[in-house]
Formats: sequence, C-alpha cells, structure tokens
Amino acid sequence: MSSRVVVGLQWGDEGKGKVIDVLAGEADLVVRYQGGGNAGHTVQVGHEHYVLHLVPAGILRPGTTCVIGGGCVVDPELLLAEIAQLESRGHRVQGRLVVSARAHLVLPAHKRWDVLRDKGANRIGTTGRGIGPCYADKVARTGVRVGDLRDPDLFGNLTRANVAEKNTILSALYGEPPSDPEEVVKRYLYFAERLLPHVGDAEARVREALGSGKRVLFEGAQGLLLDVDAGTYPFVTGSSAGPGGVATGAGVPPSQTGDVVGVVKAYATRVGEGPFPTELPPEEAARLRERGAEFGATTGRPRRCGWFDAVASRYAAAVSGADHLAVTKLDILGGEKKLRLAVAYKLDGRETTEFPGDAVALHRAEPVYRELPGWTEDITDVTSEARLPEACRRYLDAIEEEVGVPASLVSVGPERRQSLARGVEVGRE
Ligand code: GDP
Repeated sequence: MSSRVVVGLQWGDEGKGKVIDVLAGEADLVVRYQGGGNAGHTVQVGHEHYVLHLVPAGILRPGTTCVIGGGCVVDPELLLAEIAQLESRGHRVQGRLVVSARAHLVLPAHKRWDVLRDKGANRIGTTGRGIGPCYADKVARTGVRVGDLRDPDLFGNLTRANVAEKNTILSALYGEPPSDPEEVVKRYLYFAERLLPHVGDAEARVREALGSGKRVLFEGAQGLLLDVDAGTYPFVTGSSAGPGGVATGAGVPPSQTGDVVGVVKAYATRVGEGPFPTELPPEEAARLRERGAEFGATTGRPRRCGWFDAVASRYAAAVSGADHLAVTKLDILGGEKKLRLAVAYKLDGRETTEFPGDAVALHRAEPVYRELPGWTEDITDVTSEARLPEACRRYLDAIEEEVGVPASLVSVGPERRQSLARGVEVGRE
C-alpha cells in the first residue's frame, strides 16, 4: 500500500471507522481531510469501544501519526475532550496528532445558528454541531482559523467581528440575546494553550510523507451522498466528503491520493431528512435498526433503515473512482428470508439506472428490486470467504455486480478480527 482513501458510498454511518481501523494497521499516517465533530466513527478494539468525532481512527494504532487537515472544522472544546479521553484510556496523543493551522474553528454562535436555523419546512436534520455555519463563514472569508490562535491580538479582532455579525443576525432573525465577544475570546484563548502544541503545518507533513514513500490513509468523515456538490443537495453536509476533497482538504496533489476504498453497509441507512428510495416501512426498519444498533453515534437519533441501494452506491462509486468496496455489517442481515437490492428506479413512468441529480426527483424515485435468498447461519466468526454460506457469497457477488466494483474487504462484526479479505490486503493486528 502507498496511499489510499477511505470514503463512504452511502449516506454516512457505513462503518468507515472500523474499516479505517483495520487498514490503519499498515499505515504510517491517517489523515482526516474534511468534516468536523458531526462525524462519529465507532471503533471496537477487543472489548474497548471508542467513538471518535475529530481525531482520526488511526490514533488507536500506536505506530501511526494522525492529521486533521485544513479542510476540517475544529471545535476546540470537543477536540480537547476527545484527546483527554484517549489519553485517559492509555493512548498517547501528544506528538502523534497534528492539527492544521488552516482548519477553521467552530465558534459557539455556529452551533446556536445551526440549531436555530434547522427548523420548520426546510429542515435538513443537521447534527447541530455548527458545521454548516462554520463552513459558510470559511467561504464568506469571515471565518477564524486554528492558526489565528497563535496571535491573540489577531484572533481577538477576527473573533470580535465574527461574534458581532452573528449577534446581529441571531437577534434579528430569532430574537436571540447577544453573546459577549470578550467571553468567547477568553474561552478560546484558554483552549489555545492546550491546543497549540498539536498545531502545525499538517499539509506539509502529509506531502513529505507521500514524497518519502510512507503509507498514507485518508479518512473520509461523511458519505459521498452527503457531499456538498455530489450529494443529495440540500440534504448534505457542508464539505467535500468524496475523494475530491482530499486534495484541497489535506493539501496534496490529486494524483497522489491513491486507491479508493468505498465503504458500503450491506443495507442502507440515513440520518436526518432527505430522500431515501429504499427506506423500509416502520416495522421492518425497526427490525434492522435494533439488530444493527442503528442509532446515531453523535446525536443518538434512530437511523432510517432500508435495503441496499445499488443505484445510489453505483453513482457514489463512479464519482469517487472506487477501486474496491469494503462491505460492512453483513452479519446483521442473517435471518432475513429474502434480501433485496435496488438495481434501478422507476421515475416519472420510466425505468432508469441513473441516480437523479436533485433531491426533488429522488423523492419520486421508486426502487426496482433484485431479490436474493437470505441465510440463517451466524457468520460473526467467519474470517475466510470459503466459509461464508453460499447465499452470503451470492449476495456479495450481487453487490459487486450491481455497483461494478470488487468487494475486496468484508466485515462480519464490529471487531478488527471480524474481517475477511477477498483480494485487498487487510491490516494485521
Ligand atoms: P462510520 O461513521 O461510517 O464509522 O459508522 P458508525 O461508526 O456510525 O457506525 C458503524 C457501527 O457499526 C459502529 O458501531 C461499528 O462498531 C459497527 N460495525 C462496523 N462494522 C460492523 C460489522 O461488520 N458488523 C457489525 N455488527 N457491526 C459493525
């Protein structure tokens, strides 16, 4: 392996954390290139259970250095709490985590605005962690960056201007009381003391690593279908979740980002609002939700559940240039008599295999299913393809065939060891 991108090919929660943890066993550097505390990567190592919002999942592998790239947005309070938690559980973070000076800071008003705005008919179901408003400030060039914390005067001036603007907006639109800019400045400069030792030229570190032949794993935070450009707008996140975001978010040439591993769950889930053609009716969805523990790692919200949507994942794989699929949570489908995969949509009286470019059309799409037999065996201890039940192999073949990408890695349980390779090298413990 030289470098590799791990990206979700659904609406998030595909099990990227587990796949990154497995592949990080053979990586020198693990790099987050987009997103913020809205991500919730759950990783299980033996009996230990970790939920990582900002720190790359590679931190659980002692030989790995982790990078939070400039394409990310950082809530310092959340990041420091996560670092403290990791350290209290025996993981050294100091000297192993580099946070880009270019990453933007999530300010308190970003979170308030996120929650206040996401109401009513146009609700998109955000995590309320301030991600969208923070990215909006970045693009408006009114944001405050992690590196600004190095210069308290500059930081103070930028933050005061930002808070004053938000006070005006939030008071006019929602009748909110103003925040005291001095309090925000003081609080963030207090965080700065503990954050700055981790801050550096993260992008240069990544380029150096690539230049010297080190193995770099780029970690996507959200699924491709939530990408701000390629996703089901407006029900998307505020950044480039696909491999397109790697170059800008980690400061590396697009030609050097490497193979793409697309992560798909063996069925589909979605959190928040937005079209979801293969969504199951409540009773059947509840069955999958309970079995698959489909509750948000960041918000605890129940996830909407449905059948695997090959139309959506084929599109996501095409946009991402996926070289391999990692199929997760195959074990959760055990016991289903019949399995279904959407292979086309019926849209406005026509059948199509194209994924519509807008959410309005996708709302009208009805799935056309291919049916396959299920299996009843427990597969959670299976670590070689030959020992998978025949129906399981047929289901994987169908996913491969319909998405058009080889399913090289299969996950049959939350732990590292519950993985099997069908071609790609799997990281060693
Ligand atoms: P991510 O944000 O894409 O990393 O996904 P989440 O962490 O939100 O959700 C994945 C959940 O499924 C986590 O709780 C994982 O521990 C768990 N998980 C991952 N792979 C498997 C698997 O193959 N089988 C089972 N049963 N659970 C898995």
